Amino acid sequence: MSQFLKFECNLKTFIEELNSILKLNNNKVEELLKVEKKSYSNFVKPLQILDEKLELFFTPLSHINSVSNTDETQKVYAESLPIITEYSTKLSQNIDIYKAYKEIQSSESISLNKEQKRVLELNILNFELSGAHLNDKIKERLQEINIRKSELSNNFSQNLLNATNEYEFIIKDEKDIEGLPKSDVESAKFKEDGVVKYKFTLQMPSYIAYMTYGRNQKIREELYKAYVTRSPQNAEIIDELLSLKNEMSILLGFNNYAEYSLASKMAKNEQSVLSFLENLVKNSREQAIKELEEVQKIAKEPLKSFDTAYYSEILKKEKYAIDEELYRPYFEQTRVIKGMFKFLNKLFGIRFEKVEEKLWDDKACSYNLYLNDKLTARLYTDMEARKGKRGGAWMHNWQAHYIDEQEKEYLASAFIVCNFPASTKNNPSLLRHDDVVTLFHEMGHAIHHMLSSVKENEVSGVNGVEWDAVEFPSQFLENFAYEPKVLKLFASHYKMKERIPDKMIEKLVKSKNFLSASAMLRQLEFSIFDFTLHTKIYKGDEIQNLLNTIRKDTSLINTPKYNKFQNGFAHIFAGGYAAGYYSYKWAEVLSADVFFSVIDEGIYNSNIAKKYLEIILKGGGSSSMSILFKELQGREPDINSLLRLNGIK
Ligand SMILES: [Zn+2]
Repeated sequence: MSQFLKFECNLKTFIEELNSILKLNNNKVEELLKVEKKSYSNFVKPLQILDEKLELFFTPLSHINSVSNTDETQKVYAESLPIITEYSTKLSQNIDIYKAYKEIQSSESISLNKEQKRVLELNILNFELSGAHLNDKIKERLQEINIRKSELSNNFSQNLLNATNEYEFIIKDEKDIEGLPKSDVESAKFKEDGVVKYKFTLQMPSYIAYMTYGRNQKIREELYKAYVTRSPQNAEIIDELLSLKNEMSILLGFNNYAEYSLASKMAKNEQSVLSFLENLVKNSREQAIKELEEVQKIAKEPLKSFDTAYYSEILKKEKYAIDEELYRPYFEQTRVIKGMFKFLNKLFGIRFEKVEEKLWDDKACSYNLYLNDKLTARLYTDMEARKGKRGGAWMHNWQAHYIDEQEKEYLASAFIVCNFPASTKNNPSLLRHDDVVTLFHEMGHAIHHMLSSVKENEVSGVNGVEWDAVEFPSQFLENFAYEPKVLKLFASHYKMKERIPDKMIEKLVKSKNFLSASAMLRQLEFSIFDFTLHTKIYKGDEIQNLLNTIRKDTSLINTPKYNKFQNGFAHIFAGGYAAGYYSYKWAEVLSADVFFSVIDEGIYNSNIAKKYLEIILKGGGSSSMSILFKELQGREPDINSLLRLNGIK
């Protein structure tokens, strides 16, 4: 019998089946709670497996809803969400489970292995971060705070959305749109009273198009000003949000929200995050100044905030741009995938073998993954764009590797979804180099999940990996998509068969690193602002003052006084990034660090690559990434690798 589940999702019976699984689960939870002498094996393990089974049943629906979306998938998906949410909220608030975990944690502290301890640790932490263990009065207040917080976040994004939608700038003079790409001109074009005009808005593609290519500085300034002064009423929301987050953190036993945020992350404390970010600022500034000088040379007058994108584009065109169309013939999809498999084989000794099975679409494929000739996992790929498929690219984990109470081994599986150009009988799917990078990135996530040898499913593969470390394996692998030794394995012209020339690879790297120090400073500005803002209560003008102080180091051009960037910083005020924006750079350092260790060993036959497989990939979420990383490298991550990766000297 196959070790892998058959991919199926019966939409007609889904809700009914879901309800009966949940009913069974609820009964089982009650039964488990009645067990007299609770232990890891008679309580935690079965509870974990209940959870896994529910996941296994639900994942095909969310997958189908993303890749073969129809009215029916939407309907069933929307119907199932509140059912699942109700079930999991009830579980996460069940204080008897929390107490049982705590008891088992102390009574079996000697006999539990590392993975089992981690499962308990993370579950207990989850309860404690939600306050489920506190007294009723505090719980009530926490609930009030949560409701108000989500209201405020929702208002924040609604205000921003309204402001974005309300604005438009109409151009009548053809001269003002000279130099814009045809497609942007076409989207802006409209007719009024028989006259052709052009409409630009604050929606991303439209705004970016004019800021990058629009030659009229006055118009750029208008648009810029409109953009950075959106939703001024959000200032009040920010004040209230920050104060509520602070109150919540204190009720939960932390000094501030930053500390609360770090409790579930890899970074140890506030100081380690801030000195990490400040160190990067110090090391990038000099090169950013040089980059700006190069852009400045092109502009005749001193650069303003609304000029940089425009003049940078001119500079890029002159010196660093690559013509994607020249690259495509070297990146034919099936060759790229085969080449990536070959690369992974040379790096880690893993092998992929195609499996014939019926999936959700004819273009979807599945592969068995072998490690040292042992069947280890299954990978599903769905590479091409089509109607009814959500845009973008992602990895979605399905089965997790674990061992059950009867010592039976379960293998892992994962999906990689991309939106590459569709192939036809006569035309192959030719990728941009960016697509190749994306594919490597998602594959990095997938092997992190699939190669896990962890025995407990809740910390196996990507499960239980800290938020600021999740992107480490994906970025690690993505870096190889710029390496000549890797590209040459598969990048050959699909018609002429000749290999991609070295010069073309060099150009890819140069183009990637164009204005990299300036981009780094910008990301660091956001990260330091976000993190510092959550270390104590900031209110009103203090927020702007904080931003101004940070900009002294991170911003090389004076930002106009009217710029209220914070009122549009949805990542942290309406998304999940509060006191966590630093994670992008954090994971990049981990990945760059290990990447260069492998490069410096000549890539293939690298010892570090083997250790990476053994410690990071097999280890999954079984330990904090700070521990795994140290085990791998014998030291802390080195920021110099990230500078090297970005070509910052
Ligand atoms: Zn990713």
